[in-house]
Amino acid sequence: MAIIVPLTFSTPNLFSFNPKRIIRKKPICLSIVKAQVDVKKEDIVIVGAGIAGLATAVSLQRLGIGSKVLEQADSLRTGGTSLTLFKNGWSVLDAIGVGSQLRKQFLEIQGMVIKSEEGRELRSFNFKDEDESQEVRAVERRILLETLANQLPPDAISFSSKLENIQTKENGETLLELQDGTQLCAQVVIACDGIRSPVAKWMGFPDAKYVGYCAFRGLGFFPDGQPFQPKVDYIYGKGIRAGYVPVSPTKVYWFICFNSSSPGPKITDPSVLRQQTKELVRNWPSDLLNIMDLTPDDTIIRTPLVDRWLWPVVSPSASTGKVVLVGDAWHPMTPNLGQGACCALEDAIVLSKKLADALQYKTVSVEDAFKSYEEERWGRVFPLTIRANAVGKLLQWDNPVLCSVRNNIVIPKLVRLGPMLEHTNFEFERY
Ligand SMILES: Cc1cc2nc3c(=O)[nH]c(=O)nc-3n(C[C@H](O)[C@H](O)[C@H](O)COP(=O)(O)OP(=O)(O)OC[C@H]3O[C@@H](n4cnc5c(N)ncnc54)[C@H](O)[C@@H]3O)c2cc1C
Repeated sequence: MAIIVPLTFSTPNLFSFNPKRIIRKKPICLSIVKAQVDVKKEDIVIVGAGIAGLATAVSLQRLGIGSKVLEQADSLRTGGTSLTLFKNGWSVLDAIGVGSQLRKQFLEIQGMVIKSEEGRELRSFNFKDEDESQEVRAVERRILLETLANQLPPDAISFSSKLENIQTKENGETLLELQDGTQLCAQVVIACDGIRSPVAKWMGFPDAKYVGYCAFRGLGFFPDGQPFQPKVDYIYGKGIRAGYVPVSPTKVYWFICFNSSSPGPKITDPSVLRQQTKELVRNWPSDLLNIMDLTPDDTIIRTPLVDRWLWPVVSPSASTGKVVLVGDAWHPMTPNLGQGACCALEDAIVLSKKLADALQYKTVSVEDAFKSYEEERWGRVFPLTIRANAVGKLLQWDNPVLCSVRNNIVIPKLVRLGPMLEHTNFEFERY
């Protein structure tokens, strides 16, 4: 990593956090004779235009605060598949003004059916039988990101802006160096840069840990309409499980999680990915295989699954000074509860409200607002990370005796959906 040339000049304090000024701001370029680079000044920089970054930017904007979003890619991550969002995710999307727009495009999922690999039904649930207020929809990540980005001013996201280096200055500002050599000086940095967050690394967090299984995902396309009930179908095998869920009238999301002693090499060749998925579930129910056959190459991806446990005392804090972590950058969790993106949305709304209070009413400092965000969110995300991991362990069992107990006793007789989805209850302070 390149080392940032320390700045040897002082600048007037340009940041009084008047929200009106922030929204209309133009980048200010200062010429530095010594380092011979321009340093752009920004008030609030969000690193990463994923779900956390865009939701935070939209939420701040609704509170009258502008921000600059830096994204390493040259466009929004428009490939990829789908995410299941539960009622906690939807309540945040409603609060930031995009819920109804998204709701129109994605089917409401009524329940789930769990089957053995031979196709025998083990159990079925209706979400609303357990909780009238539950709302479950699988959304296309592409549409979710585009919808959020469309709420922002056209120049709010700066693409091809990969953060390479970060450094705090003595005056509390943060210096960000991008891959192309651009330097930005920010008052506040909100790091939403995902599982491999360079900002989290800089703050002392270890890499997220591989949990022993990988996921294949894809989005089947049925040009004449997909034939499935609006339910999630799960199929549990030995050391492998799969599922599919209708997303829209023409699209069906599917996944396969399979044990693998190592994350394996990164594979991008679609024909290899397709062949590997087929081998994993060769004799499984035909519906799954048909959806996989109707999946365009560019939507099939393979991801090693990881998480990071935020142990009290041992884990670094979620913030240092005026730099804070949000979403996967802080608390990567396995997708077994479908809560990673939902929690990123929750983070976004809690953080933006606290930051707005600090900037606009100056009731607390930014640093204290970030501490308060961490206190409020840690008790929510740490147990969920562990729970998601534990559920994954149970579902990835490969011992035939244990799998038989799971499929014939635990799932049909012991599992109750209500308590399983209690974590989707989420209250937050409205705007
Ligand atoms: C197999 C699987 C299934 C899942 N299913 C669900 C589900 O059903 N429901 C659910 O709620 N969650 C699910 N998740 C979790 C969900 O995908 C994540 O929790 C969510 O994407 C986190 O959003 P984020 O914005 O924090 O990170 P990301 O979505 O990873 O976004 C990070 C962004 O930061 C950018 N970035 C990274 N580094 C830099 C840099 N140096 N400079 C600039 N930009 C940078 C990246 O390009 C990216 O755009 C699933 C995850 C997996 C792996």
